[in-house]
Amino acid sequence: MWCSILRLLLIHARKFRYKIVSPALKYYEEVDDKRKSGEFENVLVIFTTVESNDNEKVVDKAIEEVKQVVKQVKPSTILIYPYAHLSSDLAPPAKALDLLKIFENKTSNAYNVKVFRAPFGWYKEFMIECYGHPLSELSKTIRAETGVIKREYEKKFYILTPDGKIYDPKNFDYNNYPDLKILVDKEVFGKELEGGVNRVNDYCRKFGFEWEPMSDHGHMRYGPHATVIMDLVMQYAWQIARELGIPVFRVMGTNMFNLSEKPVLEHALLFGDRLYELNVENNRFVLRYAACHQQFAMLRDWIISYKNLPFGMFELADSYRLEQRGELNLCFRLRKFYMPDLHILTRDLKEAIEVSKKVQEKIMEEIGKLGRRYVALYNVTEDFFNEYREVLIEFVKRENYPVLINVIPSGIYYWVLNVEYHIIDNLKRPREIATFQIDVGNGKRFNIRYVDEKGEEHHPVIIHTALIGGVERYIYTVFDTAALMEKRGETPYIPTWLAPVQVRVIPVSREYLDYAIKVAEKIMDRGFRVDVDDRDESLGKKIRDAGREWIPYIIVVGEREVKSNTINVRVRRTNDQRVMSIEEFIELIEEETKGYPKTPLTMPIYLSKRPIPSYQA
Ligand SMILES: [Zn+2]
Repeated sequence: MWCSILRLLLIHARKFRYKIVSPALKYYEEVDDKRKSGEFENVLVIFTTVESNDNEKVVDKAIEEVKQVVKQVKPSTILIYPYAHLSSDLAPPAKALDLLKIFENKTSNAYNVKVFRAPFGWYKEFMIECYGHPLSELSKTIRAETGVIKREYEKKFYILTPDGKIYDPKNFDYNNYPDLKILVDKEVFGKELEGGVNRVNDYCRKFGFEWEPMSDHGHMRYGPHATVIMDLVMQYAWQIARELGIPVFRVMGTNMFNLSEKPVLEHALLFGDRLYELNVENNRFVLRYAACHQQFAMLRDWIISYKNLPFGMFELADSYRLEQRGELNLCFRLRKFYMPDLHILTRDLKEAIEVSKKVQEKIMEEIGKLGRRYVALYNVTEDFFNEYREVLIEFVKRENYPVLINVIPSGIYYWVLNVEYHIIDNLKRPREIATFQIDVGNGKRFNIRYVDEKGEEHHPVIIHTALIGGVERYIYTVFDTAALMEKRGETPYIPTWLAPVQVRVIPVSREYLDYAIKVAEKIMDRGFRVDVDDRDESLGKKIRDAGREWIPYIIVVGEREVKSNTINVRVRRTNDQRVMSIEEFIELIEEETKGYPKTPLTMPIYLSKRPIPSYQA
């Protein structure tokens, strides 16, 4: 049972307990031992934030509103719980406490129910167990000191191998599976991760991915080099969504959703703990954390027949998560990022499982193209784990590598299976990149319907997936792969299709500039990103600068090339130099980038026309 009136959040709980931790404000309420902690059953918890404009009239109104709820749920106790996180516009502490006391007294008088008030001005821990629709689905701990919602439930971990055997993670032999061991150490045993300097950060900066100091923490800006990489990954994400072999619709939407819409609030509570909120006028909005909201809100207005299923909906969604400041990481843990989010509507669980196999295959194929592999964490509900064991084994067989299974009680989340695909990065840390989930809850929650052969309406089972992960996380993987090359003593590079400048043409002196331009234009005509270093610098410096930018191909032209109508190509990847014709070169680069999108240069072609960006200074 919930409602959100005048910054109140009402939750009818089977059990609720709290304990004060330490004062949160200079002005805090003195409390005697009796009120330092409390434990209640069948309790209506009223989370209360007093805002700067609130007054006694507001309290009266609140009591009226609460009355309805008390009548319905018949709690044995009412607990008024000061909770500063429902608004950012707080009343001064002394005034807030006064109004809370008034609220307490008036509540006591209004209902024939015991009323308690938790102490004001303290950091408190609390545990809540709810009943009643829809929060009966929730069993969560809200840590009041951070406003972070965390669910508390028993996790049971297993290792499932491709031959269908189940092991206790404590007894598994990890000798042949070092990556799995790293994941298990973190997820199961909570081992501290090794420190170290992450080379990926340097590479991010090299390519123009920087923090934007004039925004909130965790927001990046993307220079022209970074922008072209983003653009390509976005195009690619859409391309591979269409390669799944089912119809896919591409849409666009908004990024903020009103928390007074029931499905939005419920989805937010189920999603968890990193909601990024915004107050506008008198409304609270959640910034979307993926494309789910927009697509579901759109799909509930579509008329869908069973004949249309399965089909997908895709959006490149700007997404927001209020990650902790200490955990922010360029291109990986961001407060704003882009999610190439695909949702696939299916008739039922059976069809969802079949389609998920295609999704899984695509996810594995794509990471393989980067020369990497995933280690998987399967979060699965108890019911699914018991009833669909064979299906799980089949999925694990296709991984061709043991997976970590986390079994959680059924009914807590909206999914029955939630697979997280992690790479183990250059710091030997698991990093979640791709994911897919089988969702049995949101079809109903958002009232998305399809009509079957008999004309009856059903809610679809929905697959959520990011086939290559978030756009920035995919790029993180690319840079991390380069960091691993460097660790092995190789020249690091990124795939040519993603290089901001794929080819640089350098004339050995001014008199060969015309030939250099001619060469560049021929290559550009074929859709490649090529520029010309026309600066008055030495040849050595020009070659070094191109190397610093990781340009895959450097073409040097001078008298010999002009005479023989050839080019001299330095290949970053192999460190060799080759003389060839322009046509031969174009053939080579076409072959190398086959199957990937092309997009034009995001900078002027002549280096002399470019200022020095922050990240190259
Ligand atoms: Zn989703």
